[in-house]
Amino acid sequence: MKPRAARLLLGVVVAGLAAAALRLPAPTPGNPATLLGALGRNDELDLQPWTQHDTLGRGETLSGVLARRGLTAQEAANVLAAATPLDPRRIPAGLPIELRGDTTDRRPQVIRFRMAVDRILHVARYGDAWAATEEVLPWVVDTLMVRGTVREHLYQAIGEGSDSLLSGRSRDELAWSIADIYEYKIDMSRELQQGDQVRALFERHTAPDGTQRIGAVLAAGLQRGGTEIQAYRMVKADGRVKYYDEQGRSLAAAFLRTPVQFRRISSNFGRRRHPILGTMRQHAGMDYAANAGTPVRTIGDGVVVFAGTRGGYGNLLEIRHPNGMVTRYAHLRGFAKGIRRGSRVSIGEYVAYVGSTGLSTAPHLHFEVLIGGQHRDPRRALAQAEAGPALTGTELAQFERVRDAVAFALEQPAGTVRALGN
Ligand SMILES: [Zn+2]
Repeated sequence: MKPRAARLLLGVVVAGLAAAALRLPAPTPGNPATLLGALGRNDELDLQPWTQHDTLGRGETLSGVLARRGLTAQEAANVLAAATPLDPRRIPAGLPIELRGDTTDRRPQVIRFRMAVDRILHVARYGDAWAATEEVLPWVVDTLMVRGTVREHLYQAIGEGSDSLLSGRSRDELAWSIADIYEYKIDMSRELQQGDQVRALFERHTAPDGTQRIGAVLAAGLQRGGTEIQAYRMVKADGRVKYYDEQGRSLAAAFLRTPVQFRRISSNFGRRRHPILGTMRQHAGMDYAANAGTPVRTIGDGVVVFAGTRGGYGNLLEIRHPNGMVTRYAHLRGFAKGIRRGSRVSIGEYVAYVGSTGLSTAPHLHFEVLIGGQHRDPRRALAQAEAGPALTGTELAQFERVRDAVAFALEQPAGTVRALGN
């Protein structure tokens, strides 16, 4: 290190200590003006480095915010002309904006737009001109183990199991991911019972501001009445992600267990302690409370045999499946594009939207299963007794490596799991 550089560094360190002693905001190294300001040496203007926070209000324009913060119309126009990554038509209300000035001026020197939790656009003043730089912040990924016991419902089990590990929102996200993994096996909104146990090994992504997201669920276990359905994640050669049990048998089956994804069912409903009992006797179907417009999916491959209006059902869709079973979806707001009598549909395809047509007082999906024209309890009719197709050959060998790499971690207590060496 050259002496001059060393002296400068020393100066920065001393300045830092002085600032700390004065309980001033820590100065930014590398910005001498800020340092001087923090130490109060700039008597001439008697300004401190300053920061202001603002957000874009609903129906407001960025020019409006900048004007409110004291920029002239011309300055605001220059700032926005420089801020090309900001698409004026796609800026969400609530966009956080930070303005910073230094000791020399009351006008902002830097304006920061937080475009996403991991993207900040810095627009800095250079004399009368402005230039933008985009900063992408890294996410930290770690692997976690969560275990929960059902007392009331899936949200509660995951919530308690991940208490100190996940934010509220990402606890729900994890519950949704787990429900998706078991979507051929169990209706998580109705069939979990007190004492059922759930565990999951998954990746947690954390943004610099602490925002969390749930990444891949690497493995999971759902224990009900003494038996556990394990799920191991494998990426197939074509890039698709599939889950298999410990023997390499697919968790996928001919039918999904619910026509509305668990994550889209009204949380009040999903958090209900008991499923609605006696529903079958009352009106021969299952109700799923969801917002109007929520997509409805067909629980299996089939052909549309009715798409139209029918009495108390309101807008009704009927699908006949290859095994002869017919499923009915009622009170719909409408049908997905191209859905009409004779249309072929594939399992999981969005076929309609939740509504409240016919004899219905609030948006919900009324779902029925009929076999030979007789109503059946969907919980029984859609239950998959047999396991799905098993992996073979090289795929099985690949699966076994994946499984063995995570099986150890799956036995660990809740918390952060050391990086998996596979
Ligand atoms: Zn109903």
